[in-house]
Amino acid sequence: MKAFEYVGAKSVDQAVKALTSGSAAMAGGTDLINRMKDYVTSPDRVVYLNDVKELAGISGDSGTGLTILSGTRLSDLLANDSIKKSYPALWQTASEVGTPQIRNMATIGGNLMQHPRCWYYRSGFGLIPKSSDGKHMLREGDNRYASIFMTDGDALYAHPSSLAIPLIALGAKATLIGPDGERTMDVAELYKVPTSNTESPFASRPGEILKSVSVPAAAGKNGSFEARHKQAHDWPLVMASASLTFSGDTVSDARVVVYGVAPLPWRSKAAEEAIKGKSVTLDSARAAGSAAAEGAKPLSMNGYKVAMLKTVITRTLCVTVGNRYWEV
Ligand SMILES: Cc1cc2nc3c(=O)[nH]c(=O)nc-3n(C[C@H](O)[C@H](O)[C@H](O)COP(=O)(O)OP(=O)(O)OC[C@H]3O[C@@H](n4cnc5c(N)ncnc54)[C@H](O)[C@@H]3O)c2cc1C
Repeated sequence: MKAFEYVGAKSVDQAVKALTSGSAAMAGGTDLINRMKDYVTSPDRVVYLNDVKELAGISGDSGTGLTILSGTRLSDLLANDSIKKSYPALWQTASEVGTPQIRNMATIGGNLMQHPRCWYYRSGFGLIPKSSDGKHMLREGDNRYASIFMTDGDALYAHPSSLAIPLIALGAKATLIGPDGERTMDVAELYKVPTSNTESPFASRPGEILKSVSVPAAAGKNGSFEARHKQAHDWPLVMASASLTFSGDTVSDARVVVYGVAPLPWRSKAAEEAIKGKSVTLDSARAAGSAAAEGAKPLSMNGYKVAMLKTVITRTLCVTVGNRYWEV
């Protein structure tokens, strides 16, 4: 990798001041170091965040809502009883990230800000990989793991953070801190779709870091389900999270968010509308899965994701109400 200057920040203030142009923040390093070794990202300076005590920990509870500081490791998130009991969508998703070793190092901030896994990007061709004759490498090449929505555009990779999915379903907010102070936005707003290789897929400004994520008080029921290659320690192919509120047995409000189908966490308004006003049964969940797939435009090698999306939405809704019908 390219030689770099190392800054071990001890406070948020030190970290923000050190993050000048050409610098990269490093938390667990499980994504950044790989990119540095492959010369995909070559910062002049690395600012290490893991010794910043103000950035680690979880406060609050399911009654008041939770604040998860960005340096919290996934293993600490999994050890939190309130998350396990009241935010199963988040707990279940975190439990399926990588391996125990990765979850012991990876932080929630690094997870949300990890870069896409697209192999053309990871081979140095950028997020919109084009060959010298102008052909889109992902559209015309091996696109088996790419998006099936928003494919009329040029950003065809699939968004990488599986934790963003339950957080958005739960209505979580992200707080960024930088040279101009703090600002808070929906977790969904952390992400944008680049239109060229010089644009970032994140909404953060230069010098800003993610400080925390706040999850509202638990209401209703939530759940996640993911489909992956066998039981491998890999990213999901398609996953979804749902957060449902009820009036009696009937769904009064729904948020359904999907992974692996678009360059952003994909909010499936179609699935939400399909399940609202109904009780969650296998039939109504299947109808929501079919609705979710409408409008998908898969690429040459990823049509399988349309069928997978239908099944994942069906199972996510069933998991959310405790009906793991495929296991009985
Ligand atoms: C085998 C394997 C399987 C995996 N499976 C999954 C999976 O199923 N789902 C999933 O979501 N991920 C998966 N991952 C990715 C893993 O979760 C991420 O690599 C990890 O969460 C990144 O966290 P980190 O603390 O190590 O981040 P780092 O590598 O330190 O940083 C990652 C990026 O985030 C930035 N960053 C870090 N902290 C902050 C901050 N506070 N503010 C702003 N920017 C910040 C860094 O600058 C860098 O660009 C997998 C990884 C591996 C190796």
